[in-house]
Amino acid sequence: SEEFYNRTVSRLQKLQSHLESAPRGSRLKGKVCIITGVGSLKGIGRASALLFAHEGAQHLYLIDFDETNLPNLKSTIEGKYPDVKVTALQADASDEAAIVGVCKQALQEEGRLDVFFANAGIATALPIDSVTPEAFMNTLRINTLSCFLAVKYGSAAMAKTNPSRGKEYSGGSIILTASVAGIRSGAGSVDYSASKAAVNSLAQVAPNQLTKTDIRVNSVCPGLIETGMTSNTFDYARARGTAGKLGQLNPMGRYAVPEEIANVALFLASDDSSYVNGQNWAVDGGLTSTLPFMP
Ligand code: NAD
Repeated sequence: SEEFYNRTVSRLQKLQSHLESAPRGSRLKGKVCIITGVGSLKGIGRASALLFAHEGAQHLYLIDFDETNLPNLKSTIEGKYPDVKVTALQADASDEAAIVGVCKQALQEEGRLDVFFANAGIATALPIDSVTPEAFMNTLRINTLSCFLAVKYGSAAMAKTNPSRGKEYSGGSIILTASVAGIRSGAGSVDYSASKAAVNSLAQVAPNQLTKTDIRVNSVCPGLIETGMTSNTFDYARARGTAGKLGQLNPMGRYAVPEEIANVALFLASDDSSYVNGQNWAVDGGLTSTLPFMP
């Protein structure tokens, strides 16, 4: 299994450098985007910010409540893509005033908002008898309320975009990061799974409220990826020599790299997905289509 793990790692490194060396595109040309949860060096949010810049986004508003890596992300994007404007904000994605504020700022500075990628989230790993009501509500606040605020205030800002097309006709894409844990029960905590199932529900119900607009709402449901969130699991498995088992239940026999999730977020953010709405997109190598889910 150690050999299999080493092969997986080198396969993923090749995939990552292939994705990184892709020629620059223009799929987000002229688009003003908000992304939350960008602060982790190995995270989905950072990979998405870099990819959105690579695809010519006009202005990226990048949010994380941990400010440590925000200056590095801003300077990396500005160094590599001088045509992309970057505003990095230290804020809590579940804070109503902060989300109202960033939507307002985008409208004031750019006159539009095209994409809101609500990606910030936390994971807990507690057995049910250790999950206090406070801990449960905290997970729901960060994972679910943040997505509700993105839908509520993101769509209101998008409705003010493109006024030339008429009040009744405006466009934009709201993308919510859920999880496979919100589709099928897994090994995760009850609070995490419930919070992500609610995110999937939000993505399904919101389009029925945002009718007669081209404002679309979808969720992405990643499977296992090595990011800041899961680094303990990976480090622990590596230390015990069981890393080869990570992702073994997946039909593809492996876990993912963040760029593979970012690519789906890019599709949903771009006009390539102009008639894709109200869906929960499993990006999990086929995991949720298999039985049994547990070892
Ligand atoms: P990560 O920990 O590497 O990144 C998450 C980032 O979100 C961090 O920088 C963190 O500081 C930030 N954040 C957390 N709460 C915030 C808040 N309230 N306001 C602002 N920023 C906040 O983890 P990741 O894996 O990149 O996570 C991104 C999303 O993907 C999360 O919603 C997570 O639940 C989801 N997800 C991850 C996996 C996985 O295997 N890593 C699988 C399924 C879903």
